Amino acid sequence: MENLESKTRFIMKKYGISANKSLGQNFLINENVVNNIVNASNITKDDLVIEIGPGLGTLTEYLLEDAGEVIAIELDDRMIKILNDRFFMCNNFQVINEDVLKVDLAKLIKEEKLKHNLKNAKIVANLPYYITTPIIMKLLEEELDIDSITVMIQKEVADRLIAVPGEKQSGAITYSVYYYAESESVLIVDNDSFIPEPEVQSEVIKLNIRKEPVIKLENKDLFFKIIKISFMQRRKTLLNALVNGGVFKDKNQAKEVFEQVGLDLNVRGESLSMEDFAKLCQHI
Ligand code: SAM
Repeated sequence: MENLESKTRFIMKKYGISANKSLGQNFLINENVVNNIVNASNITKDDLVIEIGPGLGTLTEYLLEDAGEVIAIELDDRMIKILNDRFFMCNNFQVINEDVLKVDLAKLIKEEKLKHNLKNAKIVANLPYYITTPIIMKLLEEELDIDSITVMIQKEVADRLIAVPGEKQSGAITYSVYYYAESESVLIVDNDSFIPEPEVQSEVIKLNIRKEPVIKLENKDLFFKIIKISFMQRRKTLLNALVNGGVFKDKNQAKEVFEQVGLDLNVRGESLSMEDFAKLCQHI
């Protein structure tokens, strides 16, 4: 059986490709990992799959078998010819040569679902690690019409994304992810599953987009602003962080609100739950 490592090396040699580190290129060569990603993403012929960063097309080949339509978004021009050569026979494949951060995904999903009469849209990717956070935040904050996001990312970032708000691993992004999605860890991936090997450990995670918000927010912008400020000044008490961040005009005003909410004046932001932040937000 052809193994993925020799196939990948063969394609790289044939097209004269060396991995471009600045584009986060680490190509998957472990078939077991690819199968795990595909199984976790739970794709059917009713699905539109958007793959971010298809690279040489390793994961794409498997996605094409299961999905109704696959749209691959790749920034590196060199990959476009390879992908078109490999998949020109597949009538459910399209590639967009663009920076994913610049693509109007809401429009794309709406149009393609309609055109191909597909029920759901799902995102699947082995992400370029240098822009993991902006990509995930774009996918969540644009409130796209998608069911799930199954992605390989750095393990360290995964720990933060899928933590429960208020847990030790939480960061500001934990609260955003939790607000929009239910998350799960799929698989921890060894460095030798890629060429070249990344410098950090990897993990596949799945974010199932919530149909209903986990918490009702009257002012979403203020809610996430408070969380951001409190995590930017992690070592300070929440009260001081919010005074310094300009949320309150002075300490007295902050103390008054904290007392109304029933928050300890020395509490740190990282130990607050979503509900605590929402309550605080309502009183401000
Ligand atoms: N999917 C392939 C695999 O698993 O072997 C490659 C994954 S590699 C970690 C990340 C891919 O994302 C690379 O092909 C890279 O060129 C592409 N990429 C980097 N920045 C991008 C961007 N802003 N928009 C779209 N693709 C990007």
